[in-house]
Amino acid sequence: MDRTIGTPGPSPHEPHGDSFASRLNWLRAGVLGANDGIVSTAGLVVGVAAVTTDTSTLLAAGIAGLTAGAISMAVGEYVSVSTQRDSERALLATERRELRDDPDYELVELTEIYRAKGLTPQTARAVAEELTAHDALTAHAEAELGLNPTELTNPWWAAGASAVAFVLGALLPLLAIVLLPTSVRVPVTFAAVLTALALTGSVSARLGGSSVGRAVVRVVVGGALAMAVTYGIGELAGVAGI
Ligand SMILES: [Zn+2]
Repeated sequence: MDRTIGTPGPSPHEPHGDSFASRLNWLRAGVLGANDGIVSTAGLVVGVAAVTTDTSTLLAAGIAGLTAGAISMAVGEYVSVSTQRDSERALLATERRELRDDPDYELVELTEIYRAKGLTPQTARAVAEELTAHDALTAHAEAELGLNPTELTNPWWAAGASAVAFVLGALLPLLAIVLLPTSVRVPVTFAAVLTALALTGSVSARLGGSSVGRAVVRVVVGGALAMAVTYGIGELAGVAGI
């Protein structure tokens, strides 16, 4: 997947067919979900660790944060994917109606799309006719709307996948903070979290075909900031005796 700037060739971002593109999207969503789980749980447990060394308190806080975060991710993902699927279904219903009510106009429309892509009028017409005969709705959905009618994302799957990704990410700081000896738990958790973020940052940059170095710096600085801020707040709360 390594690319040098200026080298011709397919970029990792280039979709090779619908299912490849959608798998890539899932993978990126998973990595981002894991990232969220790492950063928010790390911030939480490091902040609590600034106030108390009691492991069961840390465990309870971490589990509560993990659960709330996973549910919030799942609900957010469910709502956003459902909304998208509703609008995709509405577009497909319109297309289906147009195909039924005015098939001649629709054939001209499809022919024009292929002409605009550079085919000769005769070839464009032949392509449009053959695709329409084979599966008119799929042909129009793909050409006009960029949708595959049989591959709409299931909101339940999307919700479950992002919750699982979040939990997997959250487990790292949670286990680190409760399993490590008290004297080193904060600095070692800090280091483990930043290492994991560097990894997820580089994976998601590669999947998206963007600069790995910049992505890693962004996510590591963001994670360090989250932990430093919550640790500082925890310290202040401890000093103030809250
Ligand atoms: Zn159409």
